[in-house]
Amino acid sequence: MTTTALKNISCTTIEDMRQRGLRLGFRCDHCSRFRYMADRRFEAETVVSAISESLTCARCGSTEIETFAVARHEASGYWPAESS
Ligand SMILES: [Zn+2]
Repeated sequence: MTTTALKNISCTTIEDMRQRGLRLGFRCDHCSRFRYMADRRFEAETVVSAISESLTCARCGSTEIETFAVARHEASGYWPAESS
């Protein structure tokens, strides 16, 4: 699974993301680690892309992190696999 296969949807807030049935994804630009994050940690009005500003990668320590909404794979119905 490459990160380019992820279907990233532009969502403004955690609330917007939840309403659309999406999950919060985290990707490190440096080492390509991809994980889902528990969105219940965040307030409904939290801006999805802004979450990355307070994160560092647990694997490589990079601060070049992206956070975004992730959708199920349309054909298979599966969520994209995490990768470390
Ligand atoms: Zn990393």
